[in-house]
Amino acid sequence: TLKKDSQALVAKDQQNIWHHMSKDDAKKEPMIATKAEGSWITDHKGDKYLDGLSGLWCVNVGYGREELAQAAYNQMKEMAYTSMAQSHLPAIQLAEKLNDMLDDEYMIFYSNSGSDANEVAFKMARQYHQQNGESSRYKFISRYRAYHGGSLGALAATGQALRKYKYEPLTSGFLHVAPPDNYRKPEGMSVKEYNLQRAQEIEEKIIWEQKETIAGIIMEPVITGGGVLIPDPAYVEKVDEICKRYGVLLIIDEVICGFGRTGRTFGHMHYDIKPDIVTMAKGLTSAYLPLSVTAVRKDIYEAFSGTEDNHHFRHVNTFGGNPASCAVALKNIEIMEKENLTQRAAVLGERLRDELKELENHPYVGDIRNQGFVMGIEMVENKETKEPATDQRVSKIMSECKANGLIIGRNGDTVAGYNNILALCPPLASTDEDLEFIVSVIKKVFNQNQ
Ligand code: PMP
Repeated sequence: TLKKDSQALVAKDQQNIWHHMSKDDAKKEPMIATKAEGSWITDHKGDKYLDGLSGLWCVNVGYGREELAQAAYNQMKEMAYTSMAQSHLPAIQLAEKLNDMLDDEYMIFYSNSGSDANEVAFKMARQYHQQNGESSRYKFISRYRAYHGGSLGALAATGQALRKYKYEPLTSGFLHVAPPDNYRKPEGMSVKEYNLQRAQEIEEKIIWEQKETIAGIIMEPVITGGGVLIPDPAYVEKVDEICKRYGVLLIIDEVICGFGRTGRTFGHMHYDIKPDIVTMAKGLTSAYLPLSVTAVRKDIYEAFSGTEDNHHFRHVNTFGGNPASCAVALKNIEIMEKENLTQRAAVLGERLRDELKELENHPYVGDIRNQGFVMGIEMVENKETKEPATDQRVSKIMSECKANGLIIGRNGDTVAGYNNILALCPPLASTDEDLEFIVSVIKKVFNQNQ
């Protein structure tokens, strides 16, 4: 009946639901998804699309997984909910499992979304410093172009002006520095030198801001939503060293990079670093149910263990760590391990890059970069000057991909002039045929746009 009455459905959607993410989307007829299986989504017209962005970078194990539906069903029947006042088996098992997956020993704090997990991290970091007698430490440093969430603190950490400026004043105390953008590094400098210089700018920021005021640095291992910016290991390791030297907590946002996406269990595992706090969401449950985690190193947690009332961490979250979400996360991780999806991400990413190598000669492709199965294709007007491709040029590629059955993403920041990066982040469980399909559509579309 949905299909039969699709025009009426579209009209009702437009009349009642405020779900558009951008003004361009608002003008378009909504795509009403009715069914999803593997890497494919079917819409209300019966058309099928390969979801090259895994929803919003999250459906790692792919759609339609019976085991996950069953895990949620079984747990809901047994016990759908307890408040944070009680613990329960899925939460205990999941916390233990996550600790096995992380390199260090952490305490697991549950909430519902990536934004939540980052807010929790900021609150914990501020309180931690207070309890250590360093109440002047309240500021956070993050990077331009990064996205860390939509709530007022996570948005303050976000480094994309377009998402922020209409909602100011945001939470105060958030500072930004430029991330390494290796494609646009100055000429005559090696990638490593340039990355070390960018890390040095963080140290300078800490010094200029008065080092005793800095609580933490938040960063994704790879800036995903801001243009798939992959740092040199020297950058990440230097930032870690700076954090340790100045008593600043290192918060690693693994909301997209975690759970195999980059070809390692967590994105930060490509580097020799010791994060103090790790935040996770999306791929934790492959988005089958909402769940997020703020994993906090044991010694930080111990600073909260006094008996005085002000040692308690005050943060209530009604749905955080609910039994059904935890049961789904456990099953999701089991699937990832059984099907070797982390390894698969590395293999698929490499194949995708090899297959798309010829695009490097395309007049409007400036750079193609990936880490595991997350890829950015940076479009330019001019390969010499690296002038970002126009809005129309990038939109045309995206809509032609869609017309050929492939959904891809686009990111960057329009205000800063960089909204020219196509993003690919398909399910890690994509089949070989899915990969061939992605490659064939992208090649075809770029060929017809020479
Ligand atoms: N951090 C990163 C790196 C993200 O990409 C996102 C979401 N795109 C978030 C945090 C926020 O997650 P959520 O939308 O679940 O609040």
